[in-house]
Amino acid sequence: MSDHSYAVNLAQRLIQCPSVTPAEGGALELLQAECEAMGFSCTRLPFGEGAARIDNLYAEIDASDGSGLPHFAFAGHTDVVPVGNEADWSSGPFAGEIKAGQLYGRGAADMKGGIACFIAAVKAHLEAGKPHGRISLIITGDEEGDALNGTVKMVEWMQAHNIIPDMCLVGEPTNPEQLGDVIKNGRRGSVSGHLTVTGMQGHVAYPHLANNPMPALLDMLAPVNSTELDGGTPHFDPSTAEIVSIETPNMAGNVIPQTVHAQFNIRFNTEHSADSLTGWLEEHFARIAAARNVEVSVDWRSNAAPFVTEPGVLTDLLQSAISEVTQKTAQLSTSGGTSDARFLCALGPVAEFGLVGQTMHKVDEHVAVADIDQLTAIYGYLLGNLGGKS
Ligand SMILES: [Zn+2]
Repeated sequence: MSDHSYAVNLAQRLIQCPSVTPAEGGALELLQAECEAMGFSCTRLPFGEGAARIDNLYAEIDASDGSGLPHFAFAGHTDVVPVGNEADWSSGPFAGEIKAGQLYGRGAADMKGGIACFIAAVKAHLEAGKPHGRISLIITGDEEGDALNGTVKMVEWMQAHNIIPDMCLVGEPTNPEQLGDVIKNGRRGSVSGHLTVTGMQGHVAYPHLANNPMPALLDMLAPVNSTELDGGTPHFDPSTAEIVSIETPNMAGNVIPQTVHAQFNIRFNTEHSADSLTGWLEEHFARIAAARNVEVSVDWRSNAAPFVTEPGVLTDLLQSAISEVTQKTAQLSTSGGTSDARFLCALGPVAEFGLVGQTMHKVDEHVAVADIDQLTAIYGYLLGNLGGKS
């Protein structure tokens, strides 16, 4: 069908499944068929109701030879972000075309390419006839959306069924420039606050007859106004806070508004928890509200706790696999946004390593065909050395 490897061909076929969240798009169906052909037992795990319903896939093979080798899990998502303006793409976003050594399409980098690599690595590992350990695949269709009915529920299901991998590797595109740059061994947490401050409306010329909520709001926002909350830790950058919106439903220049809203977000390291941050800020807000005689309410949304996998067996194994294949020394990093690793860390050590992420979520998303084959080799080396280097 083509002179490309199985991994590249599978990545193309996955891209051809239009699986924009929440659509399954045939992507899980395709993976299930590939896994079953390799002898995996597959369980589809749909969660949620109606339009929020999301399909997920857990696949497992017990390839252990009785040597007590570990249970190794690969994790990833088949859903992709929308393509934007399709006319801006140089080839169809779901065509999976290869041009000048690059595979184009939505999800090529984030992260159908990564999934194809680990499926291909497992296939080669099993075909080599030296099966090692228990291998599972945790594949969700809900990473790019609200992530309410994906990995978080799969992890609960796994815990309820006592399926606890010894380590887990997420194939997200972690490399900024070249394959082998960066392993993510943790992520900062995220908490958002939506603040509403209510004073008393009135004429700007008669401020003594009104109570402007703005000064109170500005005092309340001071500790989260483009600031660092700590000095960082050995594994993490400082926690940062940013105001993202301030709104008041007031079009008139001569009216002191009644109400003002603001939203802010904090990305925090392991020096804090969502509870410690919300507790600290609620106290601060209440103090200002009392002093300025306004009412305050705040809605919190925390969608991620910070986590870190201390350098150890998993990161060492990954680093040696990467240097074996790319001759590069991958750096450990906890930077960037959140990922499903925030849920998987409840099962055990988790790290992330995948393709180059430069074009993820962009028009003309693409990855190098050569990188797909190299990443497959890295994952293959990993599987071959789970029981210690041979
Ligand atoms: Zn992703």
